[in-house]
Amino acid sequence: MMIVMKEGATDEEVAAVVSKIERAGARAHRSQGARVTVIGAIGDVEQDANVESFGLEGQPGVDRVVPILKPYKLASAQITHGERTVLDIGGRKIGGDSFALIAGPCTVESREQTLQTANTVREAGATLLRGGAYKPRTSPYAFQGLGQEGLRLLAEAKAETGLPIVTELMDMRDMDAVLEVADVVQIGARNMQNYPLLAEVGRSGCPALLKRGLSSTLDELLMAAEYILKEGNPDVMLCERGIRTFETAYRFTLDLMAVPVLKELSHLPVIVDPSHAAGRRDLVLPLSLAAAAAGADGIIVEVHPNPDEAICDGPQALVADEFEDFARAVEQAAALAGKELAGTEPVVA
Ligand code: PEP
Ligand code: MN
Repeated sequence: MMIVMKEGATDEEVAAVVSKIERAGARAHRSQGARVTVIGAIGDVEQDANVESFGLEGQPGVDRVVPILKPYKLASAQITHGERTVLDIGGRKIGGDSFALIAGPCTVESREQTLQTANTVREAGATLLRGGAYKPRTSPYAFQGLGQEGLRLLAEAKAETGLPIVTELMDMRDMDAVLEVADVVQIGARNMQNYPLLAEVGRSGCPALLKRGLSSTLDELLMAAEYILKEGNPDVMLCERGIRTFETAYRFTLDLMAVPVLKELSHLPVIVDPSHAAGRRDLVLPLSLAAAAAGADGIIVEVHPNPDEAICDGPQALVADEFEDFARAVEQAAALAGKELAGTEPVVA
């Protein structure tokens, strides 16, 4: 449940509420709004149903006590009292009025491919650089990523362009190495319900980009986010990347309705990945425009200097030479939703 304090409630009154919540065996999560303080009491479902047992109604400084009926609490829009979470990744804002253009190769393949792509997306005003060093491949015989060497190349790309890095963590044993380079750690669709991994990322405090599982509901996605948030890590962005439906004409079905609905259910930023949903380059632009116009807080797309030679996901990769035009079109669509590109200034030739 959520305890909304009165405007002007004193620190002592807030502390008394926190201590009462903790004595009842729940956790107190304090969020300071512009005018009022809201305290979330995170306990189990029974505690939530039994608001009276906390005896907070009528306590000095308390305006009202509201039960959070959703199974997820910290991820719920209710807990921030309508305020949206805005992440700060290396000075770049994600969420709110900012639109994040996250771009880069599916997989780090070589120094030249990585640096060339990083420079291209940087010049077009990208917000973050994506790139996989550890890849979740359907076939165990497929290229699994360059691992440590891939991370080293990402670090080099970051040093050269200044772009913060998003890269996937699949295995807790690679955590330290990944965290040395990652500004945002990606949890892939296939790991969305790997709960020990989610909790570990939560404890690491590293911002996370959490992809929706191939067949997961929005509630399941938000419960997965809750695993990260519960460990004290508030920096989570949700990512719609296409789900399995009966449709076979394309790879996955991009669930664009998830954008406004997730934003209604949660205060967390919502990112859309049209590349993995479509599996086809020609669909990436229209889906990106639609996502931006629908109010997404950003997109994450794959780019390659020469997609025909890409080791992984070539057919869906945007051609690096065409990325500038792509970025400008997306920027206009984001403006329709009142958002500005959060990135480095595009370098105008
Ligand atoms: C990726 O981003 O390269 C990827 C494998 O994504 P997903 O987990 O959404 O399939
Ligand atoms: Mn990929």
